[in-house]
Amino acid sequence: MYDYDLVVIGGGSGGLACSKEAASYGKRVAVMDYVKPSPQGTQWGLGGTCVNVGCIPKKLMHHAGLVGEVMKYDAREYGWQMPENPELTHNWELMISNIQDYIKALNFGYKMTLHDASVKYHNNLATFVDAHTISCVDKKGKETQITAERFVVAVGSRPTPLDCEGGELAISSDDIFSLEKAPGKTCCIGGGYVSLECAGFLSALVMDVGIYSRSELLRGFDRECCDKLEERFLKDGVTIKKGVVPIKISKTEDARLAVSFSDGSSDVFDTVLAAIGRTADTASLALEKAGVNMLPANRGKVECVAEQTNVENIYAIGDVVYGVPELTPVAVSAGRLLSARLYDESSPQMDYERVATAVYTPLEYGCVGLSEEAATTKYANVEVYHRVFVPLEHSMVVGRNETSECFSKIVVDADTGLVAGIHYLGPNAGDIIQGWALCVKKGVTYREVIETVGVHPTCAEEIVNTTVSKSSGKDVSAAGC
Ligand code: FAD
Ligand code: NAP
Repeated sequence: MYDYDLVVIGGGSGGLACSKEAASYGKRVAVMDYVKPSPQGTQWGLGGTCVNVGCIPKKLMHHAGLVGEVMKYDAREYGWQMPENPELTHNWELMISNIQDYIKALNFGYKMTLHDASVKYHNNLATFVDAHTISCVDKKGKETQITAERFVVAVGSRPTPLDCEGGELAISSDDIFSLEKAPGKTCCIGGGYVSLECAGFLSALVMDVGIYSRSELLRGFDRECCDKLEERFLKDGVTIKKGVVPIKISKTEDARLAVSFSDGSSDVFDTVLAAIGRTADTASLALEKAGVNMLPANRGKVECVAEQTNVENIYAIGDVVYGVPELTPVAVSAGRLLSARLYDESSPQMDYERVATAVYTPLEYGCVGLSEEAATTKYANVEVYHRVFVPLEHSMVVGRNETSECFSKIVVDADTGLVAGIHYLGPNAGDIIQGWALCVKKGVTYREVIETVGVHPTCAEEIVNTTVSKSSGKDVSAAGC
């Protein structure tokens, strides 16, 4: 009766996972993926935000920054023959070229895996005609119509543009990872993940960077940890201004960008990066023609219950869904589980609670569960255990061994002993926090955490050694081995 059993609109993290899972049940499945160029004209291939303009290039550039730190601080102490006070220079063009080549290989790989999974890929922009029909327009403007029994909307989101005068002069995360020339002195607007991570790698790649945030950095995260992140940014020479928004951006005679801020201050930059959150990519999807209720006040997001919209045969996953964490593994899991459930009712539902996350700033931050502030609001009695440590690898490196920036923190509901949150600042934060996500989800107690035998010598063991309570007022610095 229909062309397909399932059509997934959006070939990003969620859409690819969802379509392949559905096809594994022998269903006739297609994916529509089309990238609208950014206002600056940047475009990319199949795979969505994460692969092309998100997690992957971001993590690689973060790594480029870490490599620079190792050369600057550690190499000589570990016996590498480095010139005295080396003037490290970084070749932005080479880094971009290598990263973009890698991404193109991934784009090709995604096409192949869709083919191998018997999912039909259409490089078309989809728009709803009715609840069972979409219009599909290809690059040349040719239109066709496709029908399906079910649709999954997985169109993700795009950077929210700056709405101040001259806001169109700013670039966004859609552009930064393929910039042909190093961005130079950069004004990062926003205090969220994207602004901080971009500011972090740009600063580590020896650029002059400022973060201009309308409120506190990483609002909603553990304050004490965010304060430590901020201290590290300041130590690295990054300018941080909080409580400000840009009110005007204009071009100077020498083609730089003059930015005036709401506090009356101004400065001139080579690049302005707008990172003020993301808006669901639903404006041109005509969901209303299919009868789907939209949430225009909530950045174009779609309201769902267990990934189902108000229309029986239309579902949504990933960043486009209202109220779920905007993270790749969340989109992937939701997509896989949704398809499994559609074709096998015994499959479980997606659980969006206690998802771990990491912020890839020069001092990395990983966490799962509640911040100290949120736990204090939720529980009558909260105990916090904390520890400051110097990673072994840093302990013999001048410039690295005297800081108190690496930190672990366990937030506990004191009445039950259950862990409400774990926070970690230090190297490899994402890798370290991953396993704790399972423990916190399964209801681990504080005693069980500290009775876990550590792996030595690692930063990961600092968590099981986090034994000093805040209420004791005792020294939180870790002794040596
Ligand atoms: P997307 O991956 O955005 O895919 C949506 C796809 O749909 C796109 O290809 C889009 O072009 C296409 N599309 C849109 N409309 C249509 C249409 N009408 N027809 C056809 N196709 C359409 N998450 C992490 O977990 N870890 C990280 O380290 C991390 N870093 C990030 C760094 C940055 C700079 C950014 C911006 C995001 C980062 N994220 C990270 C978030 C992560 O990238 C997203 O949560 C994830 O990509 C969402 O997946 P999705 O499938 O919902 O949407
Ligand atoms: P975000 O984390 O939601 O942060 C948006 C920032 O912009 C906040 O500081 C916000 O301030 C500010 N802001 C919002 N509207 C503004 C305006 N009109 N003018 C000035 N400032 C404004 O958004 P993001 O950094 O774009 O990231 C989007 C999502 O991608 C994140 O939520 C995250 O889930 C995902 N992501 C994940 C990773 C990772 O996993 N490592 C990395 C990057 C992105 P307020 O705090 O005052 O609202």
